[in-house]
Amino acid sequence: MGFEKIVSQDKAVKLLKGTLITKRIPSAFLFTGEPYIGKTTVALTYAKALNCLEAEGDCCDVCQSCKKIELGIHPDVKVISAEKDTISISSVREVEEFVFLSRLEAKYKVVIIRESHKMNLAAANALLKTLEEPPQNTVLILTCENISKLPEPVVSRCFKVNFNPLSNPAIKKLFPEEQNSLVFKLAMGRPGIIKSMNIIETVEEIKNIIQKKEKVNTFKDNEEAKWWIDLLTVFLRDAICQKLLDSSCKILPNNLKIKEEVTLEKLYTIYDELQNIRKNIDLNLNKSIVLNYTEEILRRVYA
Ligand SMILES: [Zn+2]
Repeated sequence: MGFEKIVSQDKAVKLLKGTLITKRIPSAFLFTGEPYIGKTTVALTYAKALNCLEAEGDCCDVCQSCKKIELGIHPDVKVISAEKDTISISSVREVEEFVFLSRLEAKYKVVIIRESHKMNLAAANALLKTLEEPPQNTVLILTCENISKLPEPVVSRCFKVNFNPLSNPAIKKLFPEEQNSLVFKLAMGRPGIIKSMNIIETVEEIKNIIQKKEKVNTFKDNEEAKWWIDLLTVFLRDAICQKLLDSSCKILPNNLKIKEEVTLEKLYTIYDELQNIRKNIDLNLNKSIVLNYTEEILRRVYA
């Protein structure tokens, strides 16, 4: 996927292409922005462009190097992801060893560390050593939801590139087959949500909880828990519209009944409560507690 296929991240793409054209390649990048908006896809495109055997300043997607990166089998390109919401020191040691081995076939070794804010402190300190003395022709790309969640010395050693959620028309372009406009509204500009979550099913699960039908199992990771809260926020937003007697602003088609005694103020307080929980999820809040607590919130609101 060449840069022309990256939708709606013009500023980021311009910055990255600039480094390729001028051949001034920073040794470390920090891609920041919400989860599911394409940071890893762009990181892989950049890795391809650095090593493409055909194109200059972009990638061709057909040469051996591009294909290997696409398939995840390039010996000089490595992607590190969190396991159980943590990137441990052993993963960072793996990176260290990897970058100091000589290159096998690439022009640049590339390591992508996804969700780098999930590094624990020991891991971040270990990575700092590599960031301070980067081997030649090696590029580290850290992706991260929010700069404030990473230690400052790590942030200050990286070239920052910011990513934004996509507009509705832009995200629609990526999924021409999808007919249900609710899917786009609830994805909130994050194409990865459409790829990796079953949006409509989760909405039904929430409705079932409200109608006291069944419980959901706990979340597989923090991202799923955050996504759950995002959807609850939409339910709550709709409840606020209902209380304001303006059903035209509702997003979800439903006629769930709100308890008589629940006031607008109460709804705003609950809204804040949900946002606070969301903010703290990366501090490894117990996910079963988050689930039980949010279920309890639903029961407070709906009859
Ligand atoms: Zn290529």
